[in-house]
Amino acid sequence: MSDFGPDDLPIRDDLRGRAPYGAPQLDVPVALNTNENPFPPSERLVEALGSAVSDAARGLNRYPDRDAVRLRGALARYLGHGLDADRVWAANGSNEVLQQILQVFGGPGRTAMGFEPSYSMHPVITEVTGTRWITAERGPDFGIDPDRAEELIAEHRPDVLFLTSPNNPTGTALPLETVARLAAAAPGMVVVDEAYAEFRREGTPSALTLLPDHPRLIVSRTMSKAFALAGARLGYLAAHPAVVQALQLVRLPYHLSAVTQAVALTALEFSDELLAGVKQLREERDALVGWLRAQGFAVADSDANFVLFGEFEDRGAVFRGMLERGVLIREVGPPRWLRATIGTPEEMSAFREALLRVTA
Ligand code: PMP
Repeated sequence: MSDFGPDDLPIRDDLRGRAPYGAPQLDVPVALNTNENPFPPSERLVEALGSAVSDAARGLNRYPDRDAVRLRGALARYLGHGLDADRVWAANGSNEVLQQILQVFGGPGRTAMGFEPSYSMHPVITEVTGTRWITAERGPDFGIDPDRAEELIAEHRPDVLFLTSPNNPTGTALPLETVARLAAAAPGMVVVDEAYAEFRREGTPSALTLLPDHPRLIVSRTMSKAFALAGARLGYLAAHPAVVQALQLVRLPYHLSAVTQAVALTALEFSDELLAGVKQLREERDALVGWLRAQGFAVADSDANFVLFGEFEDRGAVFRGMLERGVLIREVGPPRWLRATIGTPEEMSAFREALLRVTA
């Protein structure tokens, strides 16, 4: 029995040999590997969440609001830009949002294109929805050359184009002009994955400002990072109302539980408090970039809550050395680089100390 695996089952041919995606979940003192927010909810927020969940619990015999209208309205108000509930959609994490997008706009015979290195779930979601993935490359500075990108779009005519800004794992934000040009050039849907939007440095506007001019543009966001709510699973997007209506063709009825909706609504009421934590993380990030450069490491400019740094002959050895010292980072992205999430000040001191020892 024990050597009977998924490949012995009649699974889809295109899933054969695939491994499930996911970073190791190790129990370590300092976990800087999945770009989580290191600040747990405040006691005040924990109490508010508790009472919101209690209220929701009283109605758990009933299905939740299938269209999550109140939550979508609150998310729209948070985003601003004149958005409303008709232009916002939500699901269990932005991964589910992206999956729904691919279910509607991708599928067999269709393609999606992205600029790598980037978030490795984009090709996974693309392929498991039967869509063909087309890899384009980012430049040496991890940016996207708009001229080259336009050529590739013209050549491949992808049904879905992914632009990740700020990009994971490099931290790179795209200039708005680049997003605007590529949104105009793309024949299909354009998804700007802005999971890390709140961590951008000054002067890089969100692609939300482009929505009124581009009915095929989707901006996806998450409460997992800035809102420190990775455990609650709430992702969302802003787009033309027609896009939101189209996504409802594939969403499962009642996909967002009443508990999830209550938790997300409550967290949104604490936006000010949560975004103060973001400000602190941005400062910590800028300080880390400066420190790493002063130590002689190469560091990609970061507009996110993590930094990509290098370059290492043997990054695996550095990764393992850090782990032996209780600091878990991520071996991801270009071969000679490593990624570390910004943690609390104490976690960052542990990171600095471990890195100095490992690379001494
Ligand atoms: N997009 C990007 C670029 C990410 O890095 C992540 C998470 N690491 C996600 C989307 C998915 O996040 P979630 O499903 O938690 O919203």
